[in-house]
Amino acid sequence: MAAEARVSDFGGKAHVALNDPKLRANFRRAMDGLMAKRAAQFDDPAEWTALRARGAAIRARALARLPDLLERLEANLTRNGITVHWAETPAEANAAVLGILRQAGAKRVIKGKSMVTEEIHLNAHLEANGITAVESDLGEYIIQLAGQAPSHIVMPCIHMNKVEIAELFADKIEGQTYTEDVDELCAAARKALRDRFADADAGISGVNFAVAETGTLVLIENEGNGRLSTTLPPLHIAVTGIEKVVERLDDVAPLLSLLPRSATGQIITTYVNMISSPRKAGEKDGPRQVHLVLLDNGRSRVYADVQLADTLRCIRCAACMNHCPVYTRVGGHTYTFTYPGPIGKILTPQLEGLDCAGDQPHASSLCGACAEVCPVQIPIPDLLARLRTEAVRPASPAVRGGGSGRSLADTLGWAGWTAMYSSPRLYGLSSRMMGLFGNLIPAWMPMLKQWTRVRTKPRFAGKSLHQIARERGFSND
Ligand code: SF4
Repeated sequence: MAAEARVSDFGGKAHVALNDPKLRANFRRAMDGLMAKRAAQFDDPAEWTALRARGAAIRARALARLPDLLERLEANLTRNGITVHWAETPAEANAAVLGILRQAGAKRVIKGKSMVTEEIHLNAHLEANGITAVESDLGEYIIQLAGQAPSHIVMPCIHMNKVEIAELFADKIEGQTYTEDVDELCAAARKALRDRFADADAGISGVNFAVAETGTLVLIENEGNGRLSTTLPPLHIAVTGIEKVVERLDDVAPLLSLLPRSATGQIITTYVNMISSPRKAGEKDGPRQVHLVLLDNGRSRVYADVQLADTLRCIRCAACMNHCPVYTRVGGHTYTFTYPGPIGKILTPQLEGLDCAGDQPHASSLCGACAEVCPVQIPIPDLLARLRTEAVRPASPAVRGGGSGRSLADTLGWAGWTAMYSSPRLYGLSSRMMGLFGNLIPAWMPMLKQWTRVRTKPRFAGKSLHQIARERGFSND
């Protein structure tokens, strides 16, 4: 798959998506189902309130001690026989994975689902270096066959319906005849993947939580492919962002009670894998080597800002996107980068820079649905507003590309606005001028266009309130 374009074009892509009735129907159907399932899981408001407060507290506590916990995690993983690699950039993470694979002489890789490996474009990097990586999560496998990127962080091929998948399988899987029977489609994927597990020289996975106290990697999944990817091949490489650390093993249970219920409306996923070491003497299965690549890619910068650091609490449940009135209409590919929906709108501009993704915080109505359902209480609308401000009036070096959204017209416009509102005389004069000439300003003026493109231009009143009050004898001003 080609690397992503590095500049967001949310407006242009959203127009295309909105004019695609099939895509809209696919998303609407899927999101309605997910919202109903989640609502059924959290039908007791008292339980929901208490549990999400606990989840938020666990994540906040982990972040408050992040540097210490990362050191502790490394020490305990190392003690357990897991090798830790630190990567500041995607290039470093890709190089670390490639280096491990080369050292082991690995040519064939089977992958479990991992959004961080999407973030660093690991598959493309491995392919360019002669290593074949096959996705084993069904959704990821489908989009890999289609040559696409995930459109959702939990259900990567949610934008496709079964007819499209049936056509894809008939076209791409050798010997597969066209069928829309879902069981037969799953069986075809299982059959195609089965040998890949057995043949793989290495397995690559993500991590849901990394427990500092015990040096344990927690992975959840529904298909068993994650377990096969991490135990069958002789080498397992896990890749994750530095924010995924939690302090204690006890912290995992409340987060596991929140994550699948928020994500897919399941009480718990079919599999919960806890990896604490490579295969030990006398054990019959498991990899001989386990490595963890910890990726920064701008997360330390995000962490340096007290308000924006809340972004790092995210447990990637996708509830925010399932409930977002924007995401549910335009789908995940509209967001250009790896993380779509509300979490993407706050995370991507911070990782990639406001100069690349400055339009994303504006792709929101600020309705607050995302914050209401977020199981770790990330104040997404506040962070969207903060990033909008950073784009025009940078206050923190934590955000790359701050100020890039400000044009000369904006600067002059706001200077005029400040002068007008600082002087009663100037304000009175401006009001009169607007009453007389304001309605002559054309709707297509650059500063008005964004507003008037989809709305009627408001009409200026002929007289100000002060004038009317004076004329009626209510004011002597
Ligand atoms: S921001 Fe909250 S709701 Fe969205 S994916 Fe992260 S944890 Fe889930």
